[in-house]
This record gives sequence, structure tokens and C-alpha cells, in this order.
Amino acid sequence: MEQNQKTNLFGMTEQELRQLASDLGEKPFRGRQLYDWIYGKKASSLDEMGNLPGKFRENLAKDYTVFTGDIERKQTDPSDGTIKYLTRLADGEHVESVLMSYEHGNSLCVSTQVGCNMGCTFCASGLGGKVRDLTAGEIAGQIVSAEKDSGRKVSNIVLMGMGEPLDNFDEVMDFIRIANEDLGIGQRHITLSTCGLVPGIERLADKNLQINLAVSLHSPFQEERARIMPVARAYPIPQLIAACDDYFNRTGRRVTYEYTLIDGVNDRPEDAAELKKLLGGKPHHINLIPLNPVTETNHKRSNNVNLFAAELKKHHLNSTIRRKNGGNIDAACGQLRRNSMR
Ligand code: SF4
Repeated sequence: MEQNQKTNLFGMTEQELRQLASDLGEKPFRGRQLYDWIYGKKASSLDEMGNLPGKFRENLAKDYTVFTGDIERKQTDPSDGTIKYLTRLADGEHVESVLMSYEHGNSLCVSTQVGCNMGCTFCASGLGGKVRDLTAGEIAGQIVSAEKDSGRKVSNIVLMGMGEPLDNFDEVMDFIRIANEDLGIGQRHITLSTCGLVPGIERLADKNLQINLAVSLHSPFQEERARIMPVARAYPIPQLIAACDDYFNRTGRRVTYEYTLIDGVNDRPEDAAELKKLLGGKPHHINLIPLNPVTETNHKRSNNVNLFAAELKKHHLNSTIRRKNGGNIDAACGQLRRNSMR
């Protein structure tokens, strides 16, 4: 059996591993040992699992493997230590993840799909459409790969890489469980970023998790937002804000609105005034993001980032400007994969 046809043990629950051990004629505690090797010691192969009987390992090796992805390329920004990874999955597809170091710890931005169907006009990930969803194990594998390569412990996760997490809902929920229970990352250290799939936000509220929700708003005007984010045609701004308010009411978690500043598109005083009408008086936080320009699109980075932040302050809106990490590498989402495909 080819390596990529084998079932991946990474991504299985402790219960599933115990059951597998039983099915192969072993005591269930062998499943617990497997679990410890996979998630605790982050073993990359069955050969490393020294305290498992040789016969058990041989039987496992026929149909199972432990695979967290092969790092095929990486770019390091020497100015701040940001590392961008291009990882090859078992079927030959590629995903990106970005490791950033902050005072409070190391944050990893992970991908949830290969490509993306949402078609945001400023984003490289959506240019070729979606190829496929990632499994929970493939999303979590990005954490283990980055930790092993960098020697840094990942303490925060942002689901903000390639793909729309709520368009891959069930696998993303399984991933959050793995990150939280198996890899020990607290839910409050996990941020899910969506372009605004309202039914997905409602399903997420039903789960009543303690994760952070970030919503890409990028314009307070419906027409303009729909121009740069096609998802807005299906879920107009009033419906989106209502879903965010409901999310806060049900989970007690304040929603962050992501706002990528694009020159002449959404960085004018009237945009700030309209944001005041939308979000004023509600629990909110606005994360201002300087655009990482993408070669294939016409959007330019705004020169008004500080002015826009001051304008928001004038309107009593809370905002911060996202620190720019990885400015010297292909840091825009999907850019490394596209450049590599070329
Ligand atoms: S910004 Fe996010 S949702 Fe939009 S196309 Fe890119 S990856 Fe997809």
C-alpha cells in the first residue's frame, strides 16, 4: 500500500486509538500509548514508538501512518523571525501556514482548505478557487510541523490562512477539539476568522465555545463590500452584524472586525463615519490591517492607516493596527503557494 493510501493516525481521538489497538488484538492501554506518542511526544513515525511491541508496530505499519505534512519550502523574515511554510500534504496538494513571535508567545496562522471559493478580490488564496477541504488532522498537522521545524512552542492559533473555516465546518470543529484537548492550546487562544458566512456564525454560536471570532468586514457600505467580497451578496451587512451581535449575546465573546485598508476603497472619512453607525455603542473591536498587495489584483496599500485609526478614535470606536509581520516574505495569504505553483 502506498504511503498516501494509508490511514493517518494523526487526527484520531484517544478513543479511536484505543479501539484500533483492541481491533488489532492489543490491550486498549496500547491505544493510550499511541496517543501519547502522537500528541505528547509528537512522533513522526511508528519506528520512534519504542515502548510499543514490535508486532503491534508491524501490524499498524501495514495500513497506518503518522503524517503531519512535509515542509517543502519556507521563508524566514530576518527582521522579526516570522516564518512562512509551504507544506506538502499526502496527496501532493500544498498549504501555507505562518509562524509569528510576539511577547505573549508564538502564534500560528493555519490554512483550513486548499484554495478558497469565496473570491475576495484582494486575496491570492481565492484566485484558483477551492481545490478541497482539509481534514482536522491536516489542519492540526501544521502546528506540529511548525513546532518541530522552528523549535518554538505554538501558544496561539489563528484560522486565517488559506480557506474559509466556516465552509469546512465539521473538520474545523474537530480541529479545535484536537488543538484544545490533544495539543493543549486553550480555546481563548484560538481565533477563527470568517469572511461572513452567516449560517456558519449561527452554527458556531450554537457550539458555545470560548474561541475568538473575527469577521472580515473591510467596508461598511453594502455595495462596496459586495464588490470586494462576493459573499456579501448572499449575506448583506445588516444580517451579518445581527449574527455577530447574537454571537456575543450567546457566548459573551466580543467579535473582532477585520478591516484591511485598501487605498481609495475603504480608507476615507466617510467609511469611518459609516462604521460608527454600524458598530457604535456595541461591543466591538476593529483590527486595522495594512494590505499585503497581491500581484494579480489592482488593489494598493492605503497610506492613511494612522489617519483612519485617528478618525475611528474620534468616533469612539476601538481599533488597533495589526503589527506587520513578515514584510520581507510572500506574506499575503496564498501568495507563496501561487508563486511556488508557477
Ligand atoms: S480572504 Fe479568506 S475567505 Fe476571502 S478568498 Fe481569501 S482565503 Fe477565502
